[in-house]
Amino acid sequence: MTRPLHPDTLAVREAVERSQYGENSEALYLTSGYVQPSAEASARRFAGDEEGFTYGRYGNPTVASFERRLAAMEGAEACMSTASGMSAILMMCMGLLKAGDHVICSQSMFGSTIKLIGADLAKFGVESSFVSQTDVSAWQAVVKPNTRLLFAETPTNPLTEVCDIQALADIAHNAGALLAVDNCFATPALQKPMRFGADIVMHSGTKYLDGQGRVMAGALCASQQMVTEKFLPVLKSAGMTLAPFNAWVVLKGLETLDIRMRAQTEKAFALAQWLESHPAVARVFYPGLASHPQHALAMRQQSGLGGAVLSFDVKAADPDQARQRAFHVLDSLRVLSLSTNLGDTKTLCAHPASTSHGRLTEAQRQAAGIGQGLVRVAVGLEHFDDVTADLQRGLSSY
Ligand SMILES: *Cc1c(COP(=O)(O)O)cnc(C)c1O
Repeated sequence: MTRPLHPDTLAVREAVERSQYGENSEALYLTSGYVQPSAEASARRFAGDEEGFTYGRYGNPTVASFERRLAAMEGAEACMSTASGMSAILMMCMGLLKAGDHVICSQSMFGSTIKLIGADLAKFGVESSFVSQTDVSAWQAVVKPNTRLLFAETPTNPLTEVCDIQALADIAHNAGALLAVDNCFATPALQKPMRFGADIVMHSGTKYLDGQGRVMAGALCASQQMVTEKFLPVLKSAGMTLAPFNAWVVLKGLETLDIRMRAQTEKAFALAQWLESHPAVARVFYPGLASHPQHALAMRQQSGLGGAVLSFDVKAADPDQARQRAFHVLDSLRVLSLSTNLGDTKTLCAHPASTSHGRLTEAQRQAAGIGQGLVRVAVGLEHFDDVTADLQRGLSSY
């Protein structure tokens, strides 16, 4: 028996299928259709009785390489990629839920996720409950006979709240439901949710998997059976297919995921400490800090690392002043980017209350704890002194 390869080896070696030219770097297959060897073979492929590509919406060799590599890195049997992170969530819900089913989500999930599940899917009769990210008993309390899916994100955007994946997996499985985890913030470099019992790992490949702010992508890692029986039919009929070029970019991004995550995490930890001791900062949210409410759990679940995203609240007397000061910090930046994205080698700063969480009602925002003075920093690879100098400009001049 051959020894299984280590994760860093899989990140650069898994799913390299060379063409007749023997290229060392993965080939990019830009084609929407495939020529069939015979009418019989074509019929078998369309029926799913034979391996082979038939049409671009259903599959592509470059896309398949990305899927196999990400599955290997997450420790999953299989993976289905999508055009974006949100379309991965849509695929998951379309594949696993029907009218009358019930989903439980954390109330601190990504803003668009709350909107998609709480409002868009509600139109089709899917019920949902939103509960505290960190209170396991709150999840248990809303389990119903029709509960089919628990969906968590850890750490969350932007407050970096950490949930106990193992505890949520137990609740889900005792209820005959599945647990899905959005692993966008930690990535498989820091956290492998399946080790803690998650059934599905969802990704926005747009973030750290690409890692250089170039393309949109999404993915669901799960069992081979779930991918084949639940997700593939949705892909075929709904068509949220990942473009081959984007798949190729993210595939190459996976090769440096581990070193990027470690380097960016190290810089984020240093910045979190700097901000925590800053007189103009009221509070810093970062799992790597001892002051973080789920610090111990985060260290256990995330390979001892806090991740590359942190948020902080500026000191202010009231919400109006808080918003003014947060805007001032952002408008004073000269090096870092004012951009509502994350997972880039460039440090990105944003005001969640007016952007990523701007579509939520004030009550939903309050429930999620996202105030007007909150600034999110997705730390990139710039020198620490340049990052602090850029933030100091605004923080020292209200
Ligand atoms: C960005 C993001 C998504 C959505 O991904 P897109 O690729 O933008 O569609 C989902 N979850 C989290 C945590 C995200 O940060």
